[in-house]
Amino acid sequence: MSQPANLTQSALLPTYARADVAFVRGEGAWLVAEDGSRYLDFGAGIAVCALGHSHPALVAALAEQGGKLWHVSNLFRIPQAEALGKRLTGATFADYVFFTNSGAEALEGAIKTARKYHAASGHPERFRLITFEGAFHGRTLATIAAGGNPKYIDGFGPKVDGFDQVPFGDLAAVEAAIGPETAGVLVEPIQGEGGIRVPCPVFLPGLRALCDKHGLLLVLDEVQSGMGRTGKLFAHELVGVTPDIMAVAKGIGGGFPLGAFLTTREAGKGMVAGSHGTTYGGNPLATAVGLAALDLILEPGFLDHVKKTGVKLKQKLNDLMEKHPSIIEQVRGEGLLLGLRLHVVNSDFAVAARAQHMLVIPAGDNVVRLLPPLIIDDSDIEEAISRLDKTCQHLEAAQSSAGAHK
Ligand SMILES: *Cc1c(COP(=O)(O)O)cnc(C)c1O
Repeated sequence: MSQPANLTQSALLPTYARADVAFVRGEGAWLVAEDGSRYLDFGAGIAVCALGHSHPALVAALAEQGGKLWHVSNLFRIPQAEALGKRLTGATFADYVFFTNSGAEALEGAIKTARKYHAASGHPERFRLITFEGAFHGRTLATIAAGGNPKYIDGFGPKVDGFDQVPFGDLAAVEAAIGPETAGVLVEPIQGEGGIRVPCPVFLPGLRALCDKHGLLLVLDEVQSGMGRTGKLFAHELVGVTPDIMAVAKGIGGGFPLGAFLTTREAGKGMVAGSHGTTYGGNPLATAVGLAALDLILEPGFLDHVKKTGVKLKQKLNDLMEKHPSIIEQVRGEGLLLGLRLHVVNSDFAVAARAQHMLVIPAGDNVVRLLPPLIIDDSDIEEAISRLDKTCQHLEAAQSSAGAHK
């Protein structure tokens, strides 16, 4: 892809094919560009800005903590982290939380915890995790191996050992892949980057049962699906399954870099003093903002709003698909973790939507993702549908003129 001159001259390592637009301000579900034009943001920084841009409660928490104390190391007690940890464990299966700065760092910790559990149980040979085709777990050396996407692995030296990949949704393949070195199963309850792939409802319960049968740990990657995105605090609640270990990030900081891995007391039993660490993870500034974000997400009615809004948006997207069957092939997802599988190239669709000042995010399987802030209202939905309708109309016009030239 050729890039505009102001991008080719950027000092930023060109690992991203960036769109030539820079935003200077955000308000709720809207972003304001340098030229003052407004964009409806159904990407939310890739499911990060769960509470929208510049939420007053988050701004207040940031300013208040910023005026007092930003950072101390984990060599000291951090009351903000303790408070956020208490609220997270109180709302989940977990007994313990470890805060990180990113999703990949959360996954690294989750993977290490699963391996260490078996070592602490007298089985250090059990270090392998079963993972799934189409998965995404981050860009560190271990998480690219776990994700298994050759585009992310090739050229970066020997692939980190210990990940055995099977087709997503295939319980028989999981059972066949279990061996004497298997430590557990690592899975996204709904694949995000893979293209909003929702497995059949018996899949996660089936994984839980296999893990229980074989003494394995169920490790969930809820970096994208968690923090209220599906209308539940975590997506595994949709199917009534409880993991042993879970990685979280994206929405947890509402835009401030924050992640975490959570574990039961038993699964975390190997993670004793000195076994793991981080300099920044869980510092006062990050966890003060995280606490303000979680307070909002756990407020009565918030998750119901996400669920209802998601149903409404999905219904209208289905109507749009009926209206534009040559563009949209399928609408999928849960809550406000939605995807459109397309008949046109997904990146072309994203560019055409951007021309309507509507932001959506391409994913695998020729899908564009709709990941709006969880606080969107009916008028944001109307606006989104109207802009996506225009996007489809433009793409149809391009299809018919291409057809006419044949
Ligand atoms: C984004 C994502 C990650 C990686 O998070 P980073 O903060 O980019 O390191 C891991 N797993 C899933 C499911 C994700 O969506």
